[in-house]
Amino acid sequence: MSTNNPTYGNGKYEAVIGLEVHAQMLTESKIFCGCSTKFGSEPNTQTCPVCEGLPGVLPVLNKKAVEFSIKTGLAMNCRISRHSRFARKNYFYPDLPKAYQISQYELPICEGGHVDITINGEHKTIGITRIHMEEDAGKSIHESGSSYSLVDLNRTGTPLMEIVSEPDLRSPEEASAYMKKMRSILRYLSVCDGNMDQGSLRCDANVSVRPVGAKEFGTRTELKNINSFRFVEKAIEYEIKRQIRVIEDGGKIIQETRLWDSAAGVTNSMRSKEEAHDYRYFPDPDLVPIEVSLEWIDEIKSSLPELPDHKISRFMSDFSLPEQDAEQLASERALADWFEDVVKTGGTPKAAANWIMGDLTGLMNDEGISIEDCRIKPSMLADMLKLIDKGTISGRIAKTVFEDMYKTGKAAEEIVKEKGLVQISDSSAIEQAVDDVINANPAEVERLKAGEEKLLGFLVGQIMKSTKGKANPGMVNEILKKKLGL
Ligand code: ADP
Ligand code: MG
Ligand code: ZN
Repeated sequence: MSTNNPTYGNGKYEAVIGLEVHAQMLTESKIFCGCSTKFGSEPNTQTCPVCEGLPGVLPVLNKKAVEFSIKTGLAMNCRISRHSRFARKNYFYPDLPKAYQISQYELPICEGGHVDITINGEHKTIGITRIHMEEDAGKSIHESGSSYSLVDLNRTGTPLMEIVSEPDLRSPEEASAYMKKMRSILRYLSVCDGNMDQGSLRCDANVSVRPVGAKEFGTRTELKNINSFRFVEKAIEYEIKRQIRVIEDGGKIIQETRLWDSAAGVTNSMRSKEEAHDYRYFPDPDLVPIEVSLEWIDEIKSSLPELPDHKISRFMSDFSLPEQDAEQLASERALADWFEDVVKTGGTPKAAANWIMGDLTGLMNDEGISIEDCRIKPSMLADMLKLIDKGTISGRIAKTVFEDMYKTGKAAEEIVKEKGLVQISDSSAIEQAVDDVINANPAEVERLKAGEEKLLGFLVGQIMKSTKGKANPGMVNEILKKKLGL
C-alpha cells in the first residue's frame, strides 16, 4: 500500500496528514441570533445579547446553517444524521464571552464521506470522518505597541462547518490539492466563499511521520494559523522535516499544537495538545436535538448543482478535452459555465479552452477581476473563433483582436473592420510580398537553398512583418516554398 507514497528523509519516512477544515457559511445571519455575518464592519457593531454571551439569553438555530451543512455532506458523499445535537465545548478565552463554544460532539450532522483528488494525473480518495456545525469565536486584536488587547465580537456566532478528514493524505502537495478541491466544492454549493486570506476558509493540519512500512501512525502535531494554499504546503513540508530531524537525533515527537510563522517559514510550539476530556463536552441544554426528515434530505439532494468531478468527466467525454484542461475549467463554476456558453454559441471546445486558460486568464489576473466582471462575453469569443476558422483573421492577429475586445468590450468583427485587420488571402497580394522579401534577402535565400532550413522561418517572418501580420501564414509558406523550388 505504501509503495506509491512519497518518502522523506532519504527514503526512510512516510508522512501522514489529516486536515480539519473550518468553513464559514454564507448565511446572512449568525447561527444562533439574527445579527449580520458581513465581513469588515466597524468592531462590535454586529452583536446582540445572544452573541455577546450575556446571561439569560437563549440561542435559536438558523435553519439555513443546517441546510448548508447537509448540502455539503451530500456533496462529499457523507451519511446525513437524521438525529444530531449540539454540545458545549468549554474553554476560556477573551474572544469567547460565554466561556463555551456551541459545537457538535458525539452526534455530528454528517459522517463517513469522501472527496477525490487528482495528484500527478493519479486519482486518490480522501476519507471524510465527519462534518459538524459550530459557532465561530470573536477576534482578539493586538495593536502593536499597546500593552492591552481589544476584542471584536462581530465574528462571534458566525456559522462554521468543521470538515475533518481521515489521516489519508501523504504529502504537502496532496494536502493542498485536497484544500483546493474543498474550496471548489464549497463554492459550487455557494455555502462558503472560500476566501483563505479573509479567514472564511481555514485549516488546521495534523502531521506525523513514520518509518516506511510501519503500520502504526506516529505521534502527530497540529499546525494552526495556515491562511493560504501555499502555506498549507510550506507549513506541512517544514513540519515533516522538523519531525524527522527530532527522531533522527534520538528525540521523541510531543503531541502538541504548533503555530505556523509564515514570515520565518517555521512552526513553533504553542501549547501541549488538549484532550477531548479537557473540554468537558456535554449536550447543550438550551438547544433541542436536530431532527432531519428524509423528505428534507431528498429536497436538498435534488437542489445540488452538478459538482466539479462530474463536470470534469463530462468535459472530457463531451468535448474531448484533456483532463488538465477539464480540471482547470471546472475548478470554478462560473468559469465552467462561461466555457460551456462559448461552445453553445458555436466555439470549438479545445480552441475555447485554450483562449480561456491562456490569454483570458492572463488578462483577468493582471487586472485582478473574475469572469463575472469580464467585458468579453462568451458569444464574443465564439464569434472571434469563427473568424479564425473562416480565415478572416490569422491566429496571430486574433491575439491583438482579443486584447482589444477585452479592453473595450467591442465585437471582434467590429475591431477587425475598424483596424483593417482582415487577413490577406489574396494570392497575388501575397506573391508580391514574397517576391519583395526574396529580392531583399539574396544571401539568406542562397543559404536556405543550400540546406540551412531554419532560414525558412526567418523569411516567413519577414513576409508576415511586411504585411503587418495579416498575410495568411499557410499561403505564405506554400507560395514561398514554390517560388524557391523547395
Ligand atoms: P482533535 O480534536 O483532537 O484535533 P480530531 O479528531 O478533531 O481531533 O482531528 C484529528 C485530525 O487529525 C483528523 O483530521 C485526523 O485525520 C488527523 N490525525 C489523527 N491521527 C493522526 C496522525 N497520527 N497523524 C496525522 N494526522 C492524524
Ligand atoms: Mg483538532
Ligand atoms: Zn447576535
